Amino acid sequence: MSNMGSGVSYREITVKSALTRVQGMPFAWSLNPYSGCERACVYCYARDYHARRGRDTGAGFDREIDVKVNFPDLLALELRRLRKRETVALGTATDPYQQCEGRYRITRRTLEALVASPLPLVVITKGSMVVRDIDLLARLDVKVCMSIGTVSTELARTSEPHASPPKARLEAVRRLAAAGIDAGVLAAPILPGLSDSEESLDAVAAAAAMNGATFFSTRPLKLDPSVKPHYLAFLSEHFPALLPATEARFAERINPERGYTDMLEERARRVRSRYRFHERPFRKPEPSTPSQLRLTI
Ligand code: SF4
Repeated sequence: MSNMGSGVSYREITVKSALTRVQGMPFAWSLNPYSGCERACVYCYARDYHARRGRDTGAGFDREIDVKVNFPDLLALELRRLRKRETVALGTATDPYQQCEGRYRITRRTLEALVASPLPLVVITKGSMVVRDIDLLARLDVKVCMSIGTVSTELARTSEPHASPPKARLEAVRRLAAAGIDAGVLAAPILPGLSDSEESLDAVAAAAAMNGATFFSTRPLKLDPSVKPHYLAFLSEHFPALLPATEARFAERINPERGYTDMLEERARRVRSRYRFHERPFRKPEPSTPSQLRLTI
């Protein structure tokens, strides 16, 4: 166990597999080189995966990070055995650019394994450290989804306390795009009453377009039972006026009602049409596209 002085502890573990089969998603495999996530986003759906493994979904998820030290070597072996060219998604249950990635370089070595045995790749992150790996990403058939739900520094600071600030994430998009890498913005999740206005969505889309993003996708908030208490505690502390409506909306369900998601989708469509986003397909035909990803990641 090690500690980098930020109150986050890192536990080195070995795992038995690197690729995880995924059902019902626009990608076939997921890759998560770490477990837990120090970004500590109050709405994080990955807390639910932690709950299913009997782990703590609060500070345990945010502050006790498992580092899968044998992950890249294992992945290299598994990739050599794969027969089908299916899409993999890196960072579905953790941010692959944890602070300790600077030291461990597990994600970097994961990308090296993918360069050696290429598959279409989606990288999902809130970390500006991704630009460190531009040299490898440029050699991959990749879409980088920079997760930015708001350009409000204050909302980001309170709801995603240890993520790179929105400006830094946008700058990373700009640098990736300038290097010729297909990089866009995944505005997810959109928080009811906080980031779901057309004005707020427009501000994110405008910033994405200005920084060369190739796509702009959105996803509504989803509150699994193990996630809900953390989100409601955040509202209670920072936005108590939103608490009753949010509790009522999610009292009997984990996804918002259809009327709301349709309205959100329509807002996103209008916003998207105001800017120039040029989605690129994977180099070889693949079923998944960023627009499909918006509802499912
Ligand atoms: S960065 Fe992603 S995985 Fe990490 S806490 Fe935030 S939403 Fe969860």
